[in-house]
Amino acid sequence: MRIGCHLSVAKGFAAAVKVAPTLGANAFQYFTKNPRGFRHQKPLDRLDADRGRALMAELDIVAVGHTPYLINLATPDDDLYQASIEALVQDLIIAEARGTYGVVVHCGKPKAEPRDWGVERMQQALRRVLEENRTEGVMILVENTAGQGSEIGSSLDELMAIVEPFPPDQVGICFDTQHAFAAGILTPDDWSGFPGFRDAAFMGRLKAIHLNDSKVPFGARKDRHELIGQGYLGRDGIAAIVNDPRLEAIPFYLETPVAEERQYAEEIAAVKALLA
Ligand SMILES: [Zn+2]
Ligand SMILES: [Zn+2]
Repeated sequence: MRIGCHLSVAKGFAAAVKVAPTLGANAFQYFTKNPRGFRHQKPLDRLDADRGRALMAELDIVAVGHTPYLINLATPDDDLYQASIEALVQDLIIAEARGTYGVVVHCGKPKAEPRDWGVERMQQALRRVLEENRTEGVMILVENTAGQGSEIGSSLDELMAIVEPFPPDQVGICFDTQHAFAAGILTPDDWSGFPGFRDAAFMGRLKAIHLNDSKVPFGARKDRHELIGQGYLGRDGIAAIVNDPRLEAIPFYLETPVAEERQYAEEIAAVKALLA
């Protein structure tokens, strides 16, 4: 099983790779840039990226990048839209240098514009990113949302509509269990019944799972993660997901609200304890 968590790269990428195994992780996620901004960022440290990449191969660790939260690929604001496209193009370069297989990006927010408009706007953004993209071996992983505010991509149909025009080896999916639960598409007492898990198109694109418990009840449409087993998914929900044979080959990444990074060791152990 591939399991890991979100790790800080404040001390460098190679340093994060070294931390992973000490937490019981053989996969991890990192922010490609400062999560709250995307301009005036530190330039990519190529030497550190090379070191981290070599170390990942040696330790058999995989990783994905996560774009900053300010990125909005469905925004009606032309300046933010342009900046978001440029940021994602750069993030693919960062991810390639670090030998990480994907960059996770949330579905966008079209604000007062209709949802269909948002879907088209996001498709147009992805089209432009792929046109400019010169990297190889890095996928864009579109993440389902909780449906908070005007967020698109909270239903399975909408998520699939966004990615549908693109080749599955370039645009994949990252499935967040908390978002799906809060969006009302991952159902309590029928965890394995999520229609995506029996949809070949969805499964063909599924390359990462954000394994999070939920602080808010089913259908609450809020993005609020909870520690493993301590929220509304609980031990039963998490156990059903991690023991689902259809998800066996997909890496799990925890983004649970730990007080400090070391606590992910307990979180990962809590997940492993639920394995049948
Ligand atoms: Zn997530
Ligand atoms: Zn979230």
